[in-house]
Amino acid sequence: MNTSTLIAPPALVRRAEQQDTQAIQALDSAHYMHPFTDHADLATRGSRVITHADNIYVWDSEGKKILDAMSGLWCVNAGYGRKELADAAYQQMMTLPFYNSFFQTTNVPAVRLAAKLTSLAPKVGDRSFTHVFFGSSGSESNDTNVRMARRYWDLLGQPQRKVIISRENAYHGSTMAGASLGGMSGMHAQGDLPIPNITHIGQPHYWENALPGESRADFGIRAARWLEEKILEIGPEKVAAFIGEPVQGAGGVIIPPETYWPEIQRIVDKYGILLIADEVICAFGRLGHWFAYEQFGIRPDLITFAKGVTSGYIPLGGVMVGNRVAEVLIGQGGEFNHGYTYSGHPVACAVALANLELMEREGLVDQVRTDTGPYLAQQFGALKDHPLVGEAETCGFVAGLVLVKDKEQRTMFDPDLSVGMICRRHCFGNGLVMRAVGDRMIIAPPLVMTRAQIDEMVGLIRQCLDATLAELRTKGLLA
Ligand SMILES: *Cc1c(COP(=O)(O)O)cnc(C)c1O
Repeated sequence: MNTSTLIAPPALVRRAEQQDTQAIQALDSAHYMHPFTDHADLATRGSRVITHADNIYVWDSEGKKILDAMSGLWCVNAGYGRKELADAAYQQMMTLPFYNSFFQTTNVPAVRLAAKLTSLAPKVGDRSFTHVFFGSSGSESNDTNVRMARRYWDLLGQPQRKVIISRENAYHGSTMAGASLGGMSGMHAQGDLPIPNITHIGQPHYWENALPGESRADFGIRAARWLEEKILEIGPEKVAAFIGEPVQGAGGVIIPPETYWPEIQRIVDKYGILLIADEVICAFGRLGHWFAYEQFGIRPDLITFAKGVTSGYIPLGGVMVGNRVAEVLIGQGGEFNHGYTYSGHPVACAVALANLELMEREGLVDQVRTDTGPYLAQQFGALKDHPLVGEAETCGFVAGLVLVKDKEQRTMFDPDLSVGMICRRHCFGNGLVMRAVGDRMIIAPPLVMTRAQIDEMVGLIRQCLDATLAELRTKGLLA
């Protein structure tokens, strides 16, 4: 536990907040339209008001301490209460709070961050990363990817290459392009999505999609070949790019078989299409590397990043532009008519630099790869012995388990029972944030989590599973 960076708010403030819970909940329900929220449901139960945080814990306005196994929303990689990041923001705001990069101007933090990020992205095969384009979020950065991929093919005289292939149950954000690239059917159902020229193939989800008796390796190859089938169906001359998360996050922490990504690389190479790795979750130590493409044996042309780049302390996202695209867009492209007011925002970039420096100084990426990641794999994997758990797997510091009715037969619960939500309720009640995606329970803990804290977290998970099991038995839903 990093006590040097502890920022505990005064006890008085806490007491005032406690008294205010109901008032805040009333104002919340009257005025604040939340993202991804059913407001009728929210109004009946009231929001949980999170007031402060430190290290891997958050506190609500009732004074309840909660272990945040989701790092906020997959982003607080360096943990809460890091004074260095607050100082970096303060210093930069006092020096230059904002300036744009549109009109032949630039700013020092943006330049330094672009250089820093390229230094953290190793060359792989003939692919290197020398340039970075900044936005403020993952969604925006995926919009940028669509613009870049189509512009790239236009400049090469192949304007018919428009189609971007993605995967069902992928998550690439919530803007028009982001939600279209994503493969969430609930999102597509609202707002006439996907937009034209975006299409989807199946996801490499072994638990759900493998044939009886099919090995992980064989399934990985078969799932990758869905891409080739789709390319041939569309016509290779019309395909611009394939986009995928190295490990699907919001879809439920779906870790592909080892054979999957190399086969995807073979296919995109064969047809000359661009490969976009959406590493908004996977980069910055989440999987034990600065960037995840290193460990999956792929050579992406564009990499989306956001979330962990600032540990979520301030919004920032962007695209790592590989040499293949940079040579065309920057080398021969003329003006690329695209950019955001906050592209290269100096405060966001200063916080990102401080965050990356902190992660380097504390060796967080190596720690996850060589020590706490393997330890989490062992401790979380042991949950497989629980009667409700069909599968429990990890990759670096993301992990998922599937709640099943019958382990031997691999039978799932009726989705209408919302067993995942029952479990999530027990987690909250028990002081643990764990997310439910259907009946998959997932975590992505802060990278500062120690071995002792992993034990604490896995202990809490076990208690929540026991409570869920007890409730299901009481309700007669299990033998
Ligand atoms: C969160 C996420 C996004 C969207 O990022 P926002 O900052 O919410 O716009 C895109 N891709 C992936 C893989 C994500 O997890």
